[in-house]
Amino acid sequence: MTAVRFAQVSKHWDATIALQPTDLTLPAGEFSVLLGPSGCGKTTTLRLIAGLEIPTTGQIEIFGKDVTQTASSQRGVSMVFQNYALFPHLSVAENIVFGLRVRRVPKAETEQRLKQVLDLLNLTPYQARKPGQLSGGQQQRVALARALVADSRLCLMDEPLSNLDAQLRQEMRHELRALQLKLGLSVVYVTHDQTEAMSMADRVVLLRDGRIEQVASPFDIYQKPNTLFAAQFIGGARMNLLELEQGCLAGSDIAVAAPEGAVRMGLRPEDIQLGSGHRMQVEKTEFTGADLLLHARVGAQLIAVRAEGKQARAVQGEVHLSWNAENLHWFDKQGLRL
Ligand code: ATP
Repeated sequence: MTAVRFAQVSKHWDATIALQPTDLTLPAGEFSVLLGPSGCGKTTTLRLIAGLEIPTTGQIEIFGKDVTQTASSQRGVSMVFQNYALFPHLSVAENIVFGLRVRRVPKAETEQRLKQVLDLLNLTPYQARKPGQLSGGQQQRVALARALVADSRLCLMDEPLSNLDAQLRQEMRHELRALQLKLGLSVVYVTHDQTEAMSMADRVVLLRDGRIEQVASPFDIYQKPNTLFAAQFIGGARMNLLELEQGCLAGSDIAVAAPEGAVRMGLRPEDIQLGSGHRMQVEKTEFTGADLLLHARVGAQLIAVRAEGKQARAVQGEVHLSWNAENLHWFDKQGLRL
């Protein structure tokens, strides 16, 4: 079963192209994440699914039904926004059931569904409070409860955790993912944070300038980025993308077995071993506690290496670096993986 299908869907505003003609299939029951830098078209894509924007071209299906011309309220989707969009003068309970009231769902059913979601999201003790009397995390849970109470099979979320502090955000990621799995929901989630995408998604849809760069599981997009852009965007510490010159790393005498047409060699900082191999000079180090990122000189370029934070005192001056051929990524002039 497919939750969402785009067939050649595009969106323009005069000269601004927010989304190029795009084909996309998101399976039901999955947590799909739209990921990419600011302005790449994530929110536009989500709003097209929600019916808050009309596509310039193409067709949109939700659970196999063509909804291109269907009003937002008839699409059976719920939305959670970054700013929670709660009514400040209504209580938690009133906020949650607001949509059900508007749709004139019978009172007994409304009460029953309310009780269920209050329970599910641990909000029962707070049901009489106003949003202003809740923490950011609790407010976000109310927004989530309001989306879940509607019982729609597709839930759209636009950066719902970005107003929370780092620790709470991490907790909410787990909570949200656990809830999605428990309820078997289809979720389309927008974020520009690759860590968030990697830790939550079944499927990452990486966007760039209104185009899909790659669609893959977190594991696959990390192991096999299709393009230079994906290689740089995915991963905690950026992948090294070293220029090549006559079979060597540019400006050095380190020979590499590059395939025909390769102009860059990709190597993740965590795939480099310290201890033996090529001798290099350390130019700078970044200590983050658990990790130490060191930058060593290779000809005209720097190569970043992840080491253990514990090694911070020992690693200075000269280091010896090695890597396994199987961890190398090769890219051609167009920035495509070889
Ligand atoms: P961010 O992470 O900053 O929210 P995004 O990836 O969600 O970015 P969109 O909001 O989808 O990006 O915007 C994509 C492009 O479309 C941008 O260039 C934006 O300026 C443009 N755009 C979005 N909405 C409109 C609009 N209503 N009218 C004109 N241009 C728009």
